[in-house]
This record gives sequence, C-alpha cells and structure tokens, in this order.
Amino acid sequence: MEKNLKRFAAIILLMAALFSAACRNLPGTAGPVSGTGSSTAIAKGFGGDVSVTVTVKDGRITDVTALGPQETQGIGSNAIDRLPPAMVAVNSVKVDSVSGATNTSRAILSAASRAYAAATGQPLALANVKMAPGTYTNPVWAFSVNTRMEVAVTVSENRILAIDVKNNDETLPILRSAKELLIPRILEGQSISIDAITGATGSSSGIRSGVALALEQALAAGGSDPSAIENFQVTPAKVTGVTRTLDYDILVIGMGGSGSAAAMSAAETQKAAGRNVSVLAIDKAGKYGGTSSVTSEMMAINPPRFMAAHNNEVAKVQLGVFARPLPDTRRNKSVYVERSVLKQAWLEYTEGDAKEDLLDLMLDHSGETLDWLVNEHGFVFGLPQLGVEPSATYYVVFQYNGSFMDNKHLIIAYFDKLYDDYLKLGGKYMLETEAYELIYDQAGGKVVGAKARSVDGTEYIINAKSVVLATGGFAGNGEMTSTLLSEKYFPLQGTWNQVGMHQNDGKMIQSALNIGAGTYNIGMTPIVHIGGGRQLIHDFETTTVRVNGQDRPYALNDIPMIMAISGNVLSVSKRAERFSDESGLGFLEPWKGGPEFYSIWSQDQIDKVRSKGFDTVTVGAFISQGGVPTGYPISNIDEVINAAIAHGISCKADTLEGLARQLKIDPAKLAATVQKYNGYCNTGVDADFHKAKEFLVPLGSSGPYYAFLGAPYCYSTTGGLDVNTSLQVLRSGSTAPIPGLYASGTDCLGVLLTEKKAYVTYGGLAQGWAFTSGKLAGASAARSAN
Ligand SMILES: Cc1cc2nc3c(=O)[nH]c(=O)nc-3n(C[C@H](O)[C@H](O)[C@H](O)COP(=O)(O)OP(=O)(O)OC[C@H]3O[C@@H](n4cnc5c(N)ncnc54)[C@H](O)[C@@H]3O)c2cc1C
Repeated sequence: MEKNLKRFAAIILLMAALFSAACRNLPGTAGPVSGTGSSTAIAKGFGGDVSVTVTVKDGRITDVTALGPQETQGIGSNAIDRLPPAMVAVNSVKVDSVSGATNTSRAILSAASRAYAAATGQPLALANVKMAPGTYTNPVWAFSVNTRMEVAVTVSENRILAIDVKNNDETLPILRSAKELLIPRILEGQSISIDAITGATGSSSGIRSGVALALEQALAAGGSDPSAIENFQVTPAKVTGVTRTLDYDILVIGMGGSGSAAAMSAAETQKAAGRNVSVLAIDKAGKYGGTSSVTSEMMAINPPRFMAAHNNEVAKVQLGVFARPLPDTRRNKSVYVERSVLKQAWLEYTEGDAKEDLLDLMLDHSGETLDWLVNEHGFVFGLPQLGVEPSATYYVVFQYNGSFMDNKHLIIAYFDKLYDDYLKLGGKYMLETEAYELIYDQAGGKVVGAKARSVDGTEYIINAKSVVLATGGFAGNGEMTSTLLSEKYFPLQGTWNQVGMHQNDGKMIQSALNIGAGTYNIGMTPIVHIGGGRQLIHDFETTTVRVNGQDRPYALNDIPMIMAISGNVLSVSKRAERFSDESGLGFLEPWKGGPEFYSIWSQDQIDKVRSKGFDTVTVGAFISQGGVPTGYPISNIDEVINAAIAHGISCKADTLEGLARQLKIDPAKLAATVQKYNGYCNTGVDADFHKAKEFLVPLGSSGPYYAFLGAPYCYSTTGGLDVNTSLQVLRSGSTAPIPGLYASGTDCLGVLLTEKKAYVTYGGLAQGWAFTSGKLAGASAARSAN
C-alpha cells in the first residue's frame, strides 16, 4: 500500500514537473524537436565553473551530466547530484532549483539550456527581459563566515546600471580587488558569468550572488519569466591564439611577501650595480601581497636599526588572541634575543633536520630585512613580543603597525608603497597572469624563463636569465597534498581545508619537480593554528539567548564544529586511532590527525546536550559564528545533526561498526580504540595522551553513534623545494643548483624545519622567512643575471 502511494506521488510529481515546464514554453520544451547530438556548456557556479553536458536522441534528452569540482560539498553538490536526473526524467532542461543551492542550480540551468540548444541545433531562445527599475539590496554569504555581505544592485528595465558593496566583514585588500576588477566586468559584460577574481574568490562569489539575486527579484517584479536571467549569463569570449614574448633579466613568479621582496631587491641590486632594471613580477591573483597582506606578524632576529631606534625595548603587552601583560624576561637586555640560545633551541626542536646554514641565514638576515622594510619602504611594526605558543619565549615577533587583526588596510598600504618604489626604479609587474610551466633549456641544463597565461586568455613566453619561484606552496592542490605529504609520522595525505589562498596550487613547484628539482621536508605538515568542522554551515539564523542575565550569541551553525573539536569526546584519525588529548583540536594540534578527523558521540551524550547543553564549548578562531553558551539546552539538536548529515559533515549509525564503515575506517581498530578510551575514562587516567580527568567522558555502550567531521584549517604547506644559501633550487639528490632557478618563502620553508613536528612555533616564522628569503633570492638572482 505504502509503495503504491509512493509510486502515485512520484507520477503526480513528474506530471506536475512536465506540466510546469510545458506551461513555461521554454527552451528544452519549446515545440517539437528532432535533434540528435551531445553538447557541453559552462556557467559560473558559486565556487567556479560548472559544466553541463546534454545528450539528445531523436529530440529526447537521454543523458545529462554536470561537473562542478569547486562547488561546496553538501550544498552545491546537491544540485549537481539532483538536477541532471530530474532533467532526463521530465525531458526538459527547465526544472526547479534545489533549495539552498541556488547559485549552483542557476549555473546548471543556464549551462544546460545552452548545451541543449547546441545539441539540438536549435537557436537559444531566451525569454524577454523586463525588469522593474530600482535598487535591490540583498545580504549574501561571501568570504566572512559570520557576517553576510550586502550587495546593492541598481537596474533599469533591461540593464544592470550599478553595483555597490555595503555592510560586510570581508578582508579589506581582498574585497578591494573584487570590487575594483569584478564589478566593472559585470557591468561591461552585463553578465554574472564572469570569472571570480583569483585570490578573491569568496568576495567575488558573494558579489555575483548578490547581483543574481537582485536580477531575479527585478525580473519577477517586472513580470518576466524567471529564465530571463539567462540573458545575464553570457560567458565573455577569451583571447585565443595570441602569444606574446617578453624578455627580462629576472622573472619573479608570485607577488606575496616573498615575491614582492624578491622583485624589489632584484631591482635595487640591478640599480646599485648601475644596470638597467629589467625585472618582471607576475601574480595570478587580482592583487599583489598574497597571503602576506592578510597576516599579522613577522619574525625578525635583532633588527639593528629598529633596536637602536627603540632603545632595545620590547612590547609591554602581548597583542592578539592571548592579550596579556608581558614581563620583560630577557637576561641580556642589549638585544631582543640571544642568537646562540635561539639557534640551539631551534636545532634541538628540529632534531638536526633543519639545514644549519639556512638557519644561520635566517638568524643573520631577518633583522636587516625588517629594517629594510621599515626604513627603505615605509612599513611600520610594533615593538617585538612573544608568539602565542608555549614554546614562544623569544622576542622575535613584530606585529604590523603594533596592532592585531584590524590592520589589513595598513598592510596593503605598505605593499602599495613598496610597489610604488619598485615602479619608480623601473620594475614591472602583471597581475591576473598565471605562470604554468618553467622553460628549461635541456641542452644547457638551465631555466631560461616561464610560460604564463593572462586572465583574458593571452599566452606569454617570458624569457629570463633568472626565475624566482615565490608561489606560496601547494596547499590549494589536493592532488599534490595527497601524494607529496608524508604518512610517516602523521596521516597527512589528503585535501586540506584552508583559510583562504586556494590559488596557491603548487603548479610551479610541480614544474620545478618535473625538471628534476630536489625537495626538502616537502612531506611535512602544513602550517596550522586552528581546527573546526570539515565544512561550515549557514542553515540557521544566529540569535541571542539570555544566560545569567546576559545576552549570549546562539549560533546553531557552529554546533557541528563544536561537536567536532569538543575536548571531552573521543577523536580518531583515518587510522581509527587517537592522535591527541582532544583538548587542542580547536587550536594548535588538529593537524596531527591529518586533513580530516572524526569525533565520536554516543546517543546518551547527544541526549545530554539536548536536555542540559554542552559541558564544554570549543570554537575555531576566525571560523566561529558566535558559538553557543555552555550549559544551555539545545532542544533542536536533532535538527542541527540532520543538517550536518545533509551537508556530509556528520554521520549516524546504530553501531560503532556501522559508523566505521560509513567513515571508511577500520571497524575493528575503532572498536579497540573505543574500548581503550572508555577504560581510561573509567580509571580517570589517560595513559596515552594524559587528558585531564574531567574531560574523560566514556562513550555509551549502546547506539546510535554519531561522528562529526573535524579538520584543521591550514595557512599553507610548509616544506617544498631544496635551496642553498643563495636560494638557488638544487637538483634532486645533489648539492648542485639548477642554474637560473631560485625559490623563496613558503616554496622552500622546509629547509628550516623537520617532518617530525609542526613548524617552529616561536612566532611569525612563515612571514619572516618570506620577506628574508625573498630579499636574498632577488639579490642573488639579479647578481647572477648581471
Ligand atoms: C590567515 C592567515 C594568517 C597568517 N598569519 C601569519 C602570521 O601572523 N605570521 C606568519 O609568519 N605567518 C602567517 N601566515 C602564513 C604566512 O602569511 C605565509 O606563509 C606567507 O605570507 C607566505 O608568503 P609567500 O610569499 O611564500 O606566499 P604568498 O604571500 O601566499 O604569495 C604567493 C603568491 O603567489 C601567487 N601565485 C601562486 N601560484 C602562482 C602562479 N602559478 N603564477 C603566478 N602567481 C602565483 C599567489 O596568487 C600569491 O599572491 C598566515 C597565513 C594566513 C592564511
């Protein structure tokens, strides 16, 4: 009976879909079609391109496939899974969007219309545009996890007239490039199918979503068919077949901290040698500054001019997340840090794996690099303070402008000044230009340039005597992190969540490997501070609740994250083993479990959350939407868990074995781990990780059981190419350099570190090395190009 009812309901739904499609008389259903063929079209989704292939046989749609690798798993992926079969079922490319996945749905529908028209040889019949003129303002999710971006769009009856970004919490330099580059392109092309600006994908997607929503509203208010939006989904044509050849002495690839320092010092070195400045810097992003322009601090060891100018004083207050008074604990107050003490500690921490001559380079040149940035190029730093980790006992950390987190507009202004100085010297740069391959002179055994492609499609052959790689590592490339990271000490292989900078995809590191470059600690863990849920959700509105007379944020969206990094449950890696005492999963330790880990909850623990709330609430810095108060009952916990399951970041099974199978981890191992952990909970002694007794809460003996997917959010990979003290890239298995090839910054940070541990944690190393190695690499590259 129930089966029959379901079948009946399905038929009614199918008829309704067919009826609604036919009533709209839209492409895909308009008139008899007899075509046979297959065609693919592309439209812009939320994350990137969505391509749809439609196959038609004798006028009937026999197959539709959609691909959108950059769409969000659990949101956009739902539209990719559901819309193609729905199109085949109703023999129409006009089906309803999947709710909650409007951007991806819109892209699939648009691409499917175009593919269908091409497959059947019919002209694309676009519905007429008639909008109600006015300004339409919508809040949309962009990069910020806790504040929507307000996008105001003014339209006439048939055109987009203006786009303005109002209230938002985007990162300033990144939003700047999205506004300056994307908005004019949308207006000029009258299209929302414009590529996101590289390096500003989140803000670009937000702007595109805001414009799309406004158009939908204006079209509806003007009485147009909803499909008329396709008039605004035209992908602009790219330049094809145009190749330009450029000749420079030095080519710097990547214009983050290390590339900018390299380009500047190369130009200065050429100038000082009385030569014409012949330096070209390129970046695939729409802005210079890279990751380096959105960070907080750099490491420098005893900058002589800065120390003298500030009377050797150190900061009295620790800035940042762990703000506190800083007692001056230096034994020798004539320097900020005793070089020999720091060096000894560094070598011990890295267990002899760091290259000592490269460490000397960092210790000896980071100070003068900070001085150079400050005195020659107008950067401003506060007095040195300590890093945030327990090992951070050295005054080596300099915060931009002596402030924390609210300084992004200042940092980008420092880069603006640096590039003004660079241009004045005669240096050149090109943004939105991606290098994709080194040019290697096989016979001469040297690098002689690189191939690059501009966002408009123009190809470039850039001949150069020296090439500096400064591309920020390969964390944005899941294939590379799945093969190059090591499994020896920690289960590191897989795709890592990132805090922005997805464009650092290691293409040029791979190109260097292809010509025989050597690596150093390339398998080591990426740089990680924070951990959270594998994916953040936005299904619920954040509200406030009154607790102890105070209003507290109540962000149900954070609950899957809270449950993934809670200190009082058991967490296992893909090896079904514990990897930490769980209390550090929100900060510093989550990387030990690799790119993904699983926190296991039993039904009794969930029931307790429902009736009494959480005993402990951990949220990931930067990725929290407000958290929820401890001890506050979460009456709708089941609704939140269901949302998490729908997004693919939680799963539930009646037994632990079933849960392990869903997680694709070894059930026997998980059972053994749970048994051992529960034993520790019963005795109150965690023999493996020494977790405090009050956090040792056993898993219930009966199901259902739940897993919440947690993940570290990394800044970049750490290890990379092997270099010598001139920052020349070495050949694999050799100390001989590859002539013409240099690396700096994250592309070669591994030389100072070890695969056995996290990167050294005295504070600011990545940024300090970026500027220091970049400055040295640029000077070396210029000298050898002379
Ligand atoms: C949110 C955040 C906070 C951080 N905070 C700190 C901190 O406080 N202190 C600290 O020491 N470190 C911090 N880090 C890490 C540090 O900022 C980076 O490791 C450092 O800036 C890297 O510098 P880089 O020049 O190597 O790379 P980046 O600054 O990332 O620059 C790389 C550039 O290369 C470009 N590029 C990549 N591939 C190509 C290509 N094929 N062609 C052309 N261009 C390409 C990219 O667009 C990018 O602009 C933080 C990182 C993040 C994400």
